[in-house]
Amino acid sequence: MAKYVYRFSEGNKDQKDLLGGKGANLAEMTKIGLPVPPGFTITTEACRAYMRDGHVPPELRVEVTMAVREIEDAIGRRLGDFHEPLLVSVRSGAKFSMPGMMETVLNVGLNDASVKGLAEFSGDERFAWDSYRRLIQMFGKTVLDIDGDLFARALDEKKTAVGAATDVDLSAEDLRDLVAVFKGIVQDETGREFPQHPREQLDMAIEAVFGSWNTERARLYRRRERIPNDLGTAVNVVTMVFGNLGETSGTGVAFTRDPSTGHSGVYGDYLANAQGEDVVSGIRNTLSLADLEQLDPASSAELRQAMRRLETHYRDLCDIEFTIERGKLWMLQTRVGKRTAGAAFRIATQLVDENLITMDEALGRVSGAQLSQLLFPQFDGGAEKELLTRAMAASPGAAVGEIVLDNAQALERTAAGAKVILVRRETNPDDLQGMIVADGVLTSRGGKTSHAAVVARGMGTTAVVGADAIDVDVTKKEVRVAGKVLHPGDVIALDGTTGEVFLGEVPVMDSPVMTYISDGLEAGLAASNDDATRELVEAVDRVLTHADDVRRMKVRANADTAEDARRARQRGAEGIGLCRTEHQFLGMRREYIEHVVLAQTPEDRDAALTDLLPLQRQDFTDLLGAMDGLPTTIRLIDPPLHEFLPDLTELAVKVAVAEEKGQVDEHDVALLAAVQRMHEQNPMLGLRGVRLGLKVPGLFALQIRAIAEATAARREAGGNPLPEIMVPLVGSVRELQIVREEAEGILAEVGREHGITLDLPIGCMIELPRAALTAHRIAEEADFFSFGTNDLTQTTWGFSRDDVEGAFFADYLENGVLTISPFETLDADGVGALVRAGVEGGRSTKPHLHMGVCGEHGGDPESIHFFHNAGLDYVSCSPFRVPIARLEAGRAAAMAGEDATA
Ligand code: PEP
Ligand code: MG
Repeated sequence: MAKYVYRFSEGNKDQKDLLGGKGANLAEMTKIGLPVPPGFTITTEACRAYMRDGHVPPELRVEVTMAVREIEDAIGRRLGDFHEPLLVSVRSGAKFSMPGMMETVLNVGLNDASVKGLAEFSGDERFAWDSYRRLIQMFGKTVLDIDGDLFARALDEKKTAVGAATDVDLSAEDLRDLVAVFKGIVQDETGREFPQHPREQLDMAIEAVFGSWNTERARLYRRRERIPNDLGTAVNVVTMVFGNLGETSGTGVAFTRDPSTGHSGVYGDYLANAQGEDVVSGIRNTLSLADLEQLDPASSAELRQAMRRLETHYRDLCDIEFTIERGKLWMLQTRVGKRTAGAAFRIATQLVDENLITMDEALGRVSGAQLSQLLFPQFDGGAEKELLTRAMAASPGAAVGEIVLDNAQALERTAAGAKVILVRRETNPDDLQGMIVADGVLTSRGGKTSHAAVVARGMGTTAVVGADAIDVDVTKKEVRVAGKVLHPGDVIALDGTTGEVFLGEVPVMDSPVMTYISDGLEAGLAASNDDATRELVEAVDRVLTHADDVRRMKVRANADTAEDARRARQRGAEGIGLCRTEHQFLGMRREYIEHVVLAQTPEDRDAALTDLLPLQRQDFTDLLGAMDGLPTTIRLIDPPLHEFLPDLTELAVKVAVAEEKGQVDEHDVALLAAVQRMHEQNPMLGLRGVRLGLKVPGLFALQIRAIAEATAARREAGGNPLPEIMVPLVGSVRELQIVREEAEGILAEVGREHGITLDLPIGCMIELPRAALTAHRIAEEADFFSFGTNDLTQTTWGFSRDDVEGAFFADYLENGVLTISPFETLDADGVGALVRAGVEGGRSTKPHLHMGVCGEHGGDPESIHFFHNAGLDYVSCSPFRVPIARLEAGRAAAMAGEDATA
């Protein structure tokens, strides 16, 4: 039989899956002897059974009876008794915190008889009737689904009738009358009396908490926070203790150290004669914990001891909710406290210095996502700023630019050299062009998964969304906000980390942590202008250095030019995992490729190739120079043809217009015929990669020769070039074999010319499902593999990389088909299975085959843990993400086996 109920004395902090975060920590506090009111937790498994079967499992009722009786016996009071009744709270508590999303019912056990018992026990009739009316109100709304406004209105009417300014001014009689009115509302709305039986109240409240897991707002919250829908919530049933029994009672929150700096000390707020919600609602001014010491020295001392005990036990910053009932301290909740990115690094190293955790554990206390927050450029903190509004921070960074309202303006102004911020009510795929050229995106509608947010994050563009204080009037070409009317051309500034929007130019600067990453510790410290920042830079240095020491995977960068390579190397890259040679031909050099591909005769083609050789030789010489001594993977050209040929429509129009005017240009006519011949419906699945290399004789040969000659030149100059030749889009071993034979011939030939041996590694991308599935064969011809998870994701899902993110991902995220774009975080179940198959296949043929990944996922924290576990030797990512990858690869090694996402 499943066990659905755990006493607090039975569970522990590691059982968050089963007991939820709150339940697991209540159990832990009980275990270490802290004063937790007696209670028990109903498991998430019971909630899952409820969701599956549509009713609570029958065994649950039995287990609840046993657990309730044990509490009654332990404290000598009975649920709903006429004298000194036991009352309980029924609280939700899922594995991941979902603040305010699910239900809580307090004071369960009160009825017409026990309310008198409570008055007797507390010696306070007003308190008893107030507790009863709170129960009916909360129970009515959350359990019986009655419109909460009905109760609120009745309360207001009562206050008006008796001339009471606030709830506190209502007398015991007023509240007793109000209870009668509330019971009337329940009768009218549900056709039955407010349940008088305490056990019925309890069962209904438990079921309501289960049900609240699936409310619309809870589902929406989970989609946003990427919390799976099938976890379910636990339910905590806890003996009620009261902070509102007079001046010797009260309630508060506390932190075991400062959550923003991490420094140890006692931080918190206390409110005498109050219940939990009064502290957070801010109705009355709270006292500090130092004041509590004056007020109630005994409880204060006990609280401090409990805090020290918790911090020693959890070995981390904890936050706490507590209540003092007539001079007796009760601990109501604790958890490892939330903190800012900067505090996370500082706290981790402080705990190391206090000998509470090891450096390996410190790695578990920070994350790549937190590090990346510390790397984004910032607005100059000292600068004068005029805040226009604050909305949702959708994509981090700091952007300053002129307002533009549509694509045309965005393109026109950026072409003229301006920086622009695209301001829209909301964006849709038609706005993509504008979003691409803009430095920032601001919308007045939509949330974190709106089109603007999803696309901007994907592109790394700063974005603030859902700024409903902004009125965007495209017809009048006006943006109205904060009593101002702005026009295209006016400058605004967006902080994508805080969601703030400022008027005018705000200076942007590198963060001190970024300065440390690129120029070293001394420079980072020099760029810090206060002690807290210096402490932060030192903390990041210590943690990152440790990550470098413990990680197994190397970190390389994707870089196409010597300049990118140098930047990546500065940030700690240990090689280049992908140089996309086609990127060396974008812009001015595009036509060189066009000429090769469209050449009509072998002579034309050879001429075009001859033009290319010196350019490529220079490209590679520079790159190998910048990466001297480090492995440099150069990928043979992989151009999606449409990016390199003239646009078919434009060219057709040009030729037609010329014909109309009788000014036929023979070159254009021939070009048009060639472009028509080569036109593809699906260029990403067409003549790309190795296919183009095999189709166009001499193209790969020219690149291989250029690599060989650049290597020879670097060696002759005394360098230590370590190039690796990589073949893209291989699907069959035979493709690789053909290229390899040709490459070996060229390497031997250039080697002879220079009197050296050139045995460069020759390997391939694994980026098609067929390659992953036949990796054991492909490995026969490969010296290394590099997983191209961009194409592997595209071809596994059948998602066109260039189209789907803008077209329907926002919908897919909204309706839960996806929790995150698989182009951002590796789809471990699907694409990941192919990666594992590729690793296994490759190593079954060559046990030591060197393997890495060079898709975008190589820089994504969660994916990096996957690659570590899959046994890859390195990840390669964009230069900006190199530090993040170093940290996460270190965390993956230090935390092997642990759940890094918990
Ligand atoms: C890939 O497909 O993952 C890859 C790195 O290659 P590209 O993005 O250039 O297609
Ligand atoms: Mg690819």
